[in-house]
Amino acid sequence: MPDIIQLLPDSVANQIAAGEVVQRPASAVKELVENAIDAGADKIQLILKDAGKALIQVIDNGCGMSLTDARMSFERHATSKIRKADDLFAIRTMGFRGEALASIAAIAHVELKTRRHEDELGTCIQIEGSEVLSQQACSANTGTSISVKNLFYNTPARRNFLKSDPVEMRHIIDEFQRIVLANPNVFFTMHHNGQEVYHLPATALKQRIVHLFGNSYNQRLVPVEEDTSIIKLHGYVGKPEFARKTRGEQFFFVNNRFIKDAYLNHAVLTAFEELLPDESYPLYVLFIDIDPAKIDINVHPTKTEIKYQDEKSIYAIIRSAVKRSLGKYNITPTLDFDQENSIGHLITEKPMEQIVQPTISFNPDFNPFAKEIPKAERGTSYSQGTSDYQRTPIPQNWDTLYEISKRESPGQQQMHEEITIPVQEQEVSKSSERQLFQIHNRYILSQIKSGFMLISQQAAHERILYERFLQQLDNHSGTSQQSLFPQSVTLNSSDFELLKELLPDIRALGFDIREFGKNTVVVEGIPADLNNVAEHALLEHLLEGFKNNLAILKLDKRDNLARSLARNGAIKAGTRLSLEEMNLLIDQLFACQMPNIALNGKPVISTFTMNELAERFEK
Ligand code: ADP
Ligand code: MG
Repeated sequence: MPDIIQLLPDSVANQIAAGEVVQRPASAVKELVENAIDAGADKIQLILKDAGKALIQVIDNGCGMSLTDARMSFERHATSKIRKADDLFAIRTMGFRGEALASIAAIAHVELKTRRHEDELGTCIQIEGSEVLSQQACSANTGTSISVKNLFYNTPARRNFLKSDPVEMRHIIDEFQRIVLANPNVFFTMHHNGQEVYHLPATALKQRIVHLFGNSYNQRLVPVEEDTSIIKLHGYVGKPEFARKTRGEQFFFVNNRFIKDAYLNHAVLTAFEELLPDESYPLYVLFIDIDPAKIDINVHPTKTEIKYQDEKSIYAIIRSAVKRSLGKYNITPTLDFDQENSIGHLITEKPMEQIVQPTISFNPDFNPFAKEIPKAERGTSYSQGTSDYQRTPIPQNWDTLYEISKRESPGQQQMHEEITIPVQEQEVSKSSERQLFQIHNRYILSQIKSGFMLISQQAAHERILYERFLQQLDNHSGTSQQSLFPQSVTLNSSDFELLKELLPDIRALGFDIREFGKNTVVVEGIPADLNNVAEHALLEHLLEGFKNNLAILKLDKRDNLARSLARNGAIKAGTRLSLEEMNLLIDQLFACQMPNIALNGKPVISTFTMNELAERFEK
């Protein structure tokens, strides 16, 4: 019998490879536009017919190709982007496999026109099913124009598998959006069946987002910025109140390459968690810059997956950076975070008014709790014995709310950071000057210069305790209040297992717990912050809350514990508060990182301005 193994002809090999690289018109669009980016173009036109099934044309003003390179570019594994294996660890271009053009040329009618700046004449090549039909010199603009007609003409199975034009168009737009977000400095247009679909002039990232998704996004974006030795992070997240019910406007880029990564996505979502209503998805457009040696983008041909070392640190950095940005936004909700030279101003719907943001200076090192607070001011029924009170680091800017009258000399002021705080919070007066009323034992009313604000006492205290417990979990600093009559608690066995798992953290919060036989523990002390709570049920409620959260919110363990305990331990609506208690509550609330966000995502504070009152009574 003769030998039967043969090498496949190139055209067949290419056709097989094409199946991996080009699944649908959108994949061809992605490859061609990325090639234009890699060629250094700053103007890229995409022209489509019938959702790319009839025509995909990409015209760029990039570097172009020489006569030989133009021909070479259609060979498999032909690439100018890497030369040796080592280069794989330093990839900064979008392409590097040298597969795309060969694959596309195997399954379509392709025409390439290209000219380098230094050449007088360009090159024109026609290829069908990997077969070069013609190659000749021609006149051409600097750059490259490549048109791909009749995609999958020779692979009917795949052609039949394509979806309707609107569906394929959707896929193309998805790919297009990713590329244009990653390259705001490039001018893009997209035409479909003769109509202009996108016209995106070169601009800064924020404006690119606005152009892509609509003018209203101008008010929705919060900048994120973090610079660490492991990664650099920058971009925007959407304000929580604009989160969508559908996933979608979520973009991660690693070294400018769009990636899908459930783990990093989770990092962003947990930073949002308590701010979002259930089942809603916030916008984010985040860029991670990382040493290419630390990642492997070679894991999948379509390259939306990446493997990296040090995943955990990256997760933590992203989560805390997003959290901090959201916190800042929460404290300064009236700010427009317009940092980039913006043409957004020109397209806002409202006529421009001169809006002057109040700016004040503050001393970032000032800490009102640096010295012991006199007992008289802190002694309240819900916080007596809160010995860790002074240890909790206090965010610095809240105190400026009370310090405005005591400005330092102008010389000193210049050394301090300038920050802007919305009017209502600047006006909250010092505790000794505050006018407070409790309404229906639920809300605290406090007069402020521009009107008044209402604070939900329960939501406020939950927020305060939650942040304090998180801190204690991190520092193992929870203090315990010993019980006079230690209680034994017997749990069912699954709760008992859960308790054992959580025990180190529960102890860090200030529980003093001893195991005592089968499924039973003795509680000898509870967190000092919670001394008004019925202690016998506290542990069981804590576990119950923890399990509920687990089912609904997918929080991490500590977050969950802190939340459950805060919910259980907070003063409830309906509890009468003394004046000192109200004052303390307000002081502590404004010391929180996110004072205005309740654990259920709703606001803690609501303000009413004199103008609003005037409108009710006088107009
Ligand atoms: P890869 O992008 O992985 O290198 P491709 O098959 O997409 O592989 O392209 C092969 C080569 O053709 C590229 O490395 C590049 O040198 C050249 N090329 C492709 N498209 C363009 C373009 N628009 N402008 C200039 N050169 C291009
Ligand atoms: Mg390529």
